[in-house]
Amino acid sequence: VQQHVEEVTDAVVRVRADNPGLMTLEGTNTWLLHPSGSAAAVVIDPGPPLPEHVRRIHDVLRARGAEVAAVLLTHGHLDHSEGAQEFAEREGTTVRAASERWSTADVLTDGELVAAADIEARVVATPGHTSDSVSFIVDDVMFTGDTVLGRGTTVIAHPDGHLGDYLTSLAVLRSRAATGTRLLLPGHGPVVADPVAWIDYYLEHRHSRLRQITEAMAALDLAPPTLTEAGELADDAVVDAVVARVYADVPQSLWPAAAVSVRAQLVLLAERGTP
Ligand SMILES: [Zn+2]
Repeated sequence: VQQHVEEVTDAVVRVRADNPGLMTLEGTNTWLLHPSGSAAAVVIDPGPPLPEHVRRIHDVLRARGAEVAAVLLTHGHLDHSEGAQEFAEREGTTVRAASERWSTADVLTDGELVAAADIEARVVATPGHTSDSVSFIVDDVMFTGDTVLGRGTTVIAHPDGHLGDYLTSLAVLRSRAATGTRLLLPGHGPVVADPVAWIDYYLEHRHSRLRQITEAMAALDLAPPTLTEAGELADDAVVDAVVARVYADVPQSLWPAAAVSVRAQLVLLAERGTP
């Protein structure tokens, strides 16, 4: 049985929420950053407002003698953000996120150094999973939210998600990780101890899926996808045709989920102007 509370390093504690699911794996990871000896902690993704979860966060803070100096969000999906404003308010602090929807102070900006007590977190904009996704680099660890998970791969749902942005964000994280990141601390799933290799796997996974799609388009003799002025696929039928071919061996009950991913890929191919 996996513990809800786990000390990952001297300064980082994970508190896992009890909201398991297809998208959340074992549950959302709430991260507590608290350098030993410091009076202040930073909480990343307070998660859902489940009483047991909030109590566990408070127990860890009390045991370490830490006050919350800042609450940060990796993105606005409810499994990360829903309890954030109430949590921050009770702690007498603010929520900082990349979207105005969740921030109760200035929105986070790319490259910003958030300083709270003696903790400094570098903000790296990593749009793709959502338009408001950011990652945080603190010393030799990187908090990646749902941009890079600890297991499996993340969902890119058009239009808030964007595959082109996502691939760029993975490349950015890879180059940052290559300069001394020891651990990835994801929004769901286990800690990643080999950051560059794991991000490479993520990039290769996306590129092999794109190759699959272009091969299916060629085999079906479909014209290159194009977009409407609103940025939607001009011909929706192409999604179903590609899904039926690429996912022929997969139960049809899973095709709607596959269609979400195929749509994001066809949008990218249309943007690139390649079949
Ligand atoms: Zn999530």
